[in-house]
Amino acid sequence: MELDEDQHQIRKWVHDFAEDVMRPAGREWDEREETPWPIIEEAASIGLYSLDFCSNAFADPTGLTFPIVSEEMCWGDAGLALAIFGSTLALSAISGNGTPEQFDEWAPQCFGTPDKVQLGAFGVSEPDAGSDVSSLRTRAVYDEAKDEWVLNGTKTWITNGGIADVHVIVAAVDPELKARGHASFVVPPGTPGLRQGQKFKKMGIRASHTAEVILEDCRVPGRCLLGGRERLDARLARAHEGKSNRTQAALSTFE
Ligand SMILES: Cc1cc2nc3c(=O)[nH]c(=O)nc-3n(C[C@H](O)[C@H](O)[C@H](O)COP(=O)(O)OP(=O)(O)OC[C@H]3O[C@@H](n4cnc5c(N)ncnc54)[C@H](O)[C@@H]3O)c2cc1C
Repeated sequence: MELDEDQHQIRKWVHDFAEDVMRPAGREWDEREETPWPIIEEAASIGLYSLDFCSNAFADPTGLTFPIVSEEMCWGDAGLALAIFGSTLALSAISGNGTPEQFDEWAPQCFGTPDKVQLGAFGVSEPDAGSDVSSLRTRAVYDEAKDEWVLNGTKTWITNGGIADVHVIVAAVDPELKARGHASFVVPPGTPGLRQGQKFKKMGIRASHTAEVILEDCRVPGRCLLGGRERLDARLARAHEGKSNRTQAALSTFE
């Protein structure tokens, strides 16, 4: 398969950034085990760390642009690469599950601006639910009187966990349905009840922050349910009837 002209140009552009900025800084930030804000800011200043660039890369119909970018970034330094692109996990969750209005509200906040860089985080993994997401225990309960969802649980191994501006959290709304009873929620910046737990010391990619996220009666407005209430209710009703509109069981969390 041949890369097209745009893909060649993007590869060269990212390669130059990896060579000039990431490689010289990689060792230092790996040893510091801290989020490399100056490097993320530098990526933002050239438009590499931006909603625009990431959205366009994801939208490439060949599916090649983001893997090409990731390959070059990881050649630069895998820890810095994950520190720079960890926010795309939240972006994917928002674009995959959210309404256009939710995308417009939350996706820009996962990146901020070159002057005020922001981060996103995506929390699905839990101490006893890694590959087996259907076992996750974090609960989301709807408080009808206040039109709020109340989140409780512990997420683990979360990139940018606790330091992100926008967290997207996957929780069970109907635990009996296992993965088909899950939903994703945006936790807006500064929401009480969400805090970082332990930060993990890793053996590699240490410039990327990985931590637990603890949710204790964390209340988010009803509009933070990605996809909205109507879609969730329809999905739960389908699941209760034993129907599906997807063919792959592994995707049921995101049906
Ligand atoms: C650096 C880092 C960053 C991360 N960032 C995030 C993040 O931002 N958000 C998030 O939600 N999670 C994140 N994770 C968690 C990651 O998604 C999980 O580690 C992953 O889902 C695997 O889960 P686990 O570690 O519990 O391993 P397990 O699920 O216990 O798997 C252990 C091993 O068993 C294998 N295995 C498991 N089940 C089966 C099966 N049925 N058949 C055959 N083999 C099987 C696996 O392939 C693996 O080799 C991160 C992890 C790391 C290391």
